[in-house]
Amino acid sequence: VTFSDLGLAEWAVKTCTELGMKRPTPVQHHCIPKIISGQDVMGLAQTGSGKTAAFALPILHHLAKDPFGVFALVITPTRELAYQLAEQFRALGSGLGLRCAVVVGGMDKINQAQSLMQRPHVVIATPGRIKVLIEENPDDIPAVFSKTKFLVLDEADRVLGVNFEAELRVIFQCLPKSRQTLLFTATMTSNLQTLLELSANKAYIYAA
Ligand code: AMP
Repeated sequence: VTFSDLGLAEWAVKTCTELGMKRPTPVQHHCIPKIISGQDVMGLAQTGSGKTAAFALPILHHLAKDPFGVFALVITPTRELAYQLAEQFRALGSGLGLRCAVVVGGMDKINQAQSLMQRPHVVIATPGRIKVLIEENPDDIPAVFSKTKFLVLDEADRVLGVNFEAELRVIFQCLPKSRQTLLFTATMTSNLQTLLELSANKAYIYAA
């Protein structure tokens, strides 16, 4: 199986080649076609499995056709992970002029709010900081996310833990219901199991 067999645009296949990605990893092989076709996906995959490209490539594939507003919001539990995700998005989207904003604690909030208002294509955020920005700029920031097409929960077992419940409630209120949701996790927790059972759109589940 090659990247072009998965239905990715020519430019994306070329980017993979340039980055030294010769063949799709299993999580990429199974999840990329489902995401391209519009399904919600839950992937059980460890760090190092290629899970980031498994969601970044199909998101960029769609974004390249219709780069409107904030296209994707990616939530991850820590700053370090946010920067690592941004690095991969920027590498994979380098041919597109991708604008990607990182919104994490410890950085200037006013700059972050301003960068969100410029409508980057992809926002990568930790739950706490994005919640604060929404609450402190109620007239501006929720509108930034009103047309978001993709929500990604990276390390979903940690993001959906009790610690972030209040944050997620605030964030989810800003997002349209008609979005695609992608969830990646290293371990299946009872929380995630419940979420799957309650989800209206039947999600495709990938487990290695
Ligand atoms: P991740 O699991 O997303 O943390 O990715 C781990 C590393 O594998 C990253 O540095 C990617 O650049 C690299 N990678 C992702 N997909 C592939 C692939 N298909 N072939 C080779 N390397 C890859």
